Amino acid sequence: MSIQTINPFSNEVIATYSLLQPSQLEAKLQLAEQTFHMWSKRTLAQRATPMRALCEQLKHRKKTLAAIITEEMGKLHHEAIAEVEKCAWVCEHYAEHAESYLAPQTIATEAKRSYICYQPLGPLLAIMPWNYPFWQVFRALAPNLMAGNTLLLKHASNVPQCSQTIEQLVQEAGFPDGCMQSLLVNSKTANELIKDQRIRGVTLTGSEFAGRSVGSLAGQYLKKSVLELGGSDPFIVCDDADIKQAVNAAVTSRCMNAGQTCIAAKRFFVMPSVADDFIQGLIDRMQKLMIGDPSDDQTTLAPLARTDLRNDLHNQVLCALDEGAKDVIGCKIPDRDGNFYLPSLLDNVNPTMSAFQEELFGPVASVIRVKSADEAIQFANQSHYGLGASIWSKDINKAEKIAFRIEAGSCFINSFVKSHCALPFGGIKNSGYGRELGAHGIQEFTNIKTIWIQ
Ligand code: NDP
Repeated sequence: MSIQTINPFSNEVIATYSLLQPSQLEAKLQLAEQTFHMWSKRTLAQRATPMRALCEQLKHRKKTLAAIITEEMGKLHHEAIAEVEKCAWVCEHYAEHAESYLAPQTIATEAKRSYICYQPLGPLLAIMPWNYPFWQVFRALAPNLMAGNTLLLKHASNVPQCSQTIEQLVQEAGFPDGCMQSLLVNSKTANELIKDQRIRGVTLTGSEFAGRSVGSLAGQYLKKSVLELGGSDPFIVCDDADIKQAVNAAVTSRCMNAGQTCIAAKRFFVMPSVADDFIQGLIDRMQKLMIGDPSDDQTTLAPLARTDLRNDLHNQVLCALDEGAKDVIGCKIPDRDGNFYLPSLLDNVNPTMSAFQEELFGPVASVIRVKSADEAIQFANQSHYGLGASIWSKDINKAEKIAFRIEAGSCFINSFVKSHCALPFGGIKNSGYGRELGAHGIQEFTNIKTIWIQ
């Protein structure tokens, strides 16, 4: 059994990799556990040394690492460089802040002294997607290695090269063997691993479908899990919004990474007095996007990562049109090689349509015309997802009141949603549970232990 790297721009097979044999997998599991016993005893300062070296490696090699990402999943080269830089940031962030995030906390009780401390759990399984093939991994890797856990990575089957490169980087940074290992396995084997006694937790970023499967198995085997799943984030444009800024942010959020971002704005709620200007702005900006070779700096819209995903997206768009949405621009597969999808705008979308209810993972903006902020909030919350939300208004008090009423893990006012190393990131409802990043992220896979001294 094997998996392949297929270039999404040329559709050429770049490399073929054999999946791990059971004996190889067993050796990696044993190593993860042995290393945990040694690694977890190291001080935070000792763990920070290779973490800082890893940060430097990423900075130093960002161009070559970005080229691997671009070749394997099609991301624009400059976006891939930014992704590697963000990975360096998260390594630096946790090297710097893990000690304070995990510092014991005294809690006054009737005991002479009572406090909590954070201790690592053991080897963790990270099941990761292809859309940010470095960032999604580093977001789990940096806090968990600093916390004293070890990590086994089951990466998406279309990015084996990224998976192995990350393992190599970690080794070269001076982490002991077994701190982080790449497993070339399929999802069936990943599920077998969840059942293994030695695996103490599982973190998954991916689709709702994968989340249900992994979450239920983790529950059955009583393993702690964090699930970062899909989203259909609302982007609410109030009648007093700065339309130029809102349009720029909307197009960036929707079309960066060819629209394959969990926190991309996907449903655009626009109020009557600004609807036409906002939509015209979207049309003008989206029509200027240039599809082409993602390693060419002139290209502004990359191919999608896989042909099947591109075809699924087109079927979702066709379904929306069938249901009565209006195709303003795009909504087509261009007649050329590569997994491209034209930048697309659907108008007159409403809550009964699949384009409203499902995650559209590509450069397709769904516009929902609303009468008021109240209606925007009601519709925004009428999604089974709850990842992020973006609200546009010059009246910050009003925007904050809207933010408090939105069912989402984060709300950004006059900015599109993005992750920040210091702030917790994650969703509610079908967007998953648990948090990554910040103090909350590093505490997820720790034993929050109570110590009571009488
Ligand atoms: P998946 O959710 O299938 O893949 C994500 C990861 O989960 C991969 O490593 C995959 O392995 C693994 N996986 C999938 N199913 C299972 C399972 N039952 N048990 C254990 N592991 C599993 O995403 P797809 O690549 O199929 O993308 C489909 C859709 O998912 C996208 O169009 C998008 O809507 C959504 N998605 C959302 C992401 C987000 O960041 N929110 C990221 C990626 C996808 P393998 O590759 O071997 O199947």
